[in-house]
Amino acid sequence: MSECVFCKIANKEISSEIIYEDNQTIAFKDINPRAPIHFLIIPKKHIPSVDHLKTEDKALIGELILVAQKIAREKNLKGYKLIINVGRAGGQLIDHLHLHLLSGKPMKLP
Ligand code: AMP
Ligand code: ZN
Repeated sequence: MSECVFCKIANKEISSEIIYEDNQTIAFKDINPRAPIHFLIIPKKHIPSVDHLKTEDKALIGELILVAQKIAREKNLKGYKLIINVGRAGGQLIDHLHLHLLSGKPMKLP
């Protein structure tokens, strides 16, 4: 999607602090961190939200979580929280599926 900010990040059309990349996914620092560590992990494929996932995306959504695990291990995170907001009522502001990885302070569910 040409006007999607996360597609633009994936295509390097706008800059971001990329911390991981492979064929299917890319991870970068959240521009407005809500914890000492706050990364976003996204599929390069434009999928608007979890609500738009299809059966064919099953491996890809699993891949996002495995990338989170890989980053957490590489950075020796003691523990972390993974969050996916879905839809405006679920707190989703950017309509390109993304997994928040938060760490570095005690965090409870809202
Ligand atoms: P959500 O509310 O789940 O849609 O989260 C969107 C996240 O994207 C927020 O935490 C924003 O701070 C973050 N964000 C928005 N624009 C950028 C950007 N250009 N680079 C990095 N993070 C961004
Ligand atoms: Zn997109």
